[in-house]
Amino acid sequence: MTNSLLEFRNLTKRFGGVTALDDFSMHLNRGEILGLIGPNGSGKTTSFNLLTGIYPASGGSIFFDGEDITNKSPRKVYEAGVVRTFQRSRLCLPLSIYDNIMIGDTSRLKTGICANLLGRKAFRKQYEETFEKARSLVATFSGNLADRMMEPVGALPMIERRRIEICRALISEPRLLLLDEPSAGMTHDETDQLMTDILDVRARGEGLSIIIVEHEMGVIERITDRCVVLSYGRKIAEGSYAEVAADAEVQNAYLGV
Ligand code: ADP
Repeated sequence: MTNSLLEFRNLTKRFGGVTALDDFSMHLNRGEILGLIGPNGSGKTTSFNLLTGIYPASGGSIFFDGEDITNKSPRKVYEAGVVRTFQRSRLCLPLSIYDNIMIGDTSRLKTGICANLLGRKAFRKQYEETFEKARSLVATFSGNLADRMMEPVGALPMIERRRIEICRALISEPRLLLLDEPSAGMTHDETDQLMTDILDVRARGEGLSIIIVEHEMGVIERITDRCVVLSYGRKIAEGSYAEVAADAEVQNAYLGV
């Protein structure tokens, strides 16, 4: 088993005349938190969309744990252990914390379909098990969400919604978590709390790896082990945050120093 969990090999994506990703190669190590940074339009979201099977690649390949997953369906990529959160919150606001989290666990969806065949007692037992699974995951985050599992998420502040979205991603016990601008819509203090939670998640999760797209450079500096910088779909730098922040091309293209 190599230390590399994910590899992009010469990944290219064209949308008509726009080359969103241009011969992009990178890797992610097991247990690593990697920052994917760059100006707007540099190809960060497109990288997530190719990796999760939303768009087919125009060229190149993606290897996950040694397996070629290029152009696999979103479902197959999820089953391989890759999950994501989105920049804009995607919770179902009238539903409870519990329901929003369990949507992320398709093993439960299967049992849901079979529920009619199970009978009341067995169904109740399964419900209690899944409830406890979701509750104990939520309890590992700061705040008191675990005591409010049946409350609708619509009334909750953004930081709680972000925590729930991360729990929804983690409930399927993934190996790779993709975070798309988790700080969006939050105050500096809330972002700081959420980053503490994310570092705790990584510390707990056996070998969980994370790629984070984020514009807040304080976040990137605090939580990443390594960064990859994109500009116009091309990789222009790679290294620790300190290394890429000191790079003249990165300063020119992105940091505006
Ligand atoms: P970032 O996430 O770094 O802001 P994106 O990956 O969203 O950048 O976009 C990279 C480039 O690809 C941009 O020029 C964007 O306009 C283009 N692009 C992204 N998605 C599409 C799409 N579905 N159709 C056409 N162009 C797209």
